[in-house]
Amino acid sequence: MQLTFRRFDLRLRHTFTIARGSSDIDPVMLVELEHDGQVGLGEAAPSGRYGESIDTVGQFLGSLDLSRFHDPFALEDILAMVDAHRPGNPAAKAAVDLALHDWVGKRLGVPLYRLWGLNPEKTPVTSFTIGIDTPEVIRRKVEEAEPYPLLKIKLGSDHDREIMQAIRSVTKKTLRVDANEGWKTKEVALERVKWLEQEGVEFVEQPMPAADLAGTAWLRERSPLPLIADENCVRVNDIPLLRGVFDGINIKLMKCTGLREAMSMIRTAKACGLKVMMGCMIETSVAITAGAHLSPLLDYADLDGNVLTTNDPYRGVVIREGRLVLPDRPGIGVVLSA
Ligand code: MG
Repeated sequence: MQLTFRRFDLRLRHTFTIARGSSDIDPVMLVELEHDGQVGLGEAAPSGRYGESIDTVGQFLGSLDLSRFHDPFALEDILAMVDAHRPGNPAAKAAVDLALHDWVGKRLGVPLYRLWGLNPEKTPVTSFTIGIDTPEVIRRKVEEAEPYPLLKIKLGSDHDREIMQAIRSVTKKTLRVDANEGWKTKEVALERVKWLEQEGVEFVEQPMPAADLAGTAWLRERSPLPLIADENCVRVNDIPLLRGVFDGINIKLMKCTGLREAMSMIRTAKACGLKVMMGCMIETSVAITAGAHLSPLLDYADLDGNVLTTNDPYRGVVIREGRLVLPDRPGIGVVLSA
């Protein structure tokens, strides 16, 4: 089987700022896996937080030789080889995982959710993310987000109160908060979490630095709101350590190496009594739709990365009254946007 890939620059509707930094253009790598006249689509959306860039994705995929595999149905063997090829590189690995799943679904003529036995009526409502900005821009973004019933707010800077004030001046919607490790001490985190409970927030994602698991456990004992692990939960082997420290986990295809690992994370988290959320990076409809096929298994979804862009080359999953609506075409089920 043959793998080809090309860079694509996604343009963002608004400059996107979180506690760690800012961007206007987000490059992704679009991947095609060809075998026996059938093409599977994949995508890598690298994040510097996990040691990747568009260049490292290109290097990883360019060094991968899949020519010894002659059957894309052998996902277990192929993906074990891809994972062992080099450490790290989770988004590059996810691109191969997605393309294989798409190929298999297309060859069998079934959408991924059917392959996994999932009910497409059970997809959740997705939140829509509002990045860090000036109060004026935030008010505008919240107004633009009118069709979305659930908002996820990025906090974790010294401007948390101004941001929350700006949001509450224009909406009463349920809010979820992501601090992206921005609250550096457990005392600050506790003060913010108590305040956010009063502001009608449903849960808080990654309040403290991933390195401070003890601080987070201290916080959870006192927190009136559930805590969800994102930066603390990269792959399946992180999950058992999070019991008693967090109430749930946020899975992302681009940090966990793809759909196969994501499925195993969902099962493991549930067995550990943790809630399951799926999030995303800035991605095209290829990766967002791939993740959405797993969404009937989720407690919370944050799959809006494609909606934050203006030049998505594909269309697949759509959002109707906030809810994810899956395509019923085979595989991931995306088509080129006209
Ligand atoms: Mg997060």
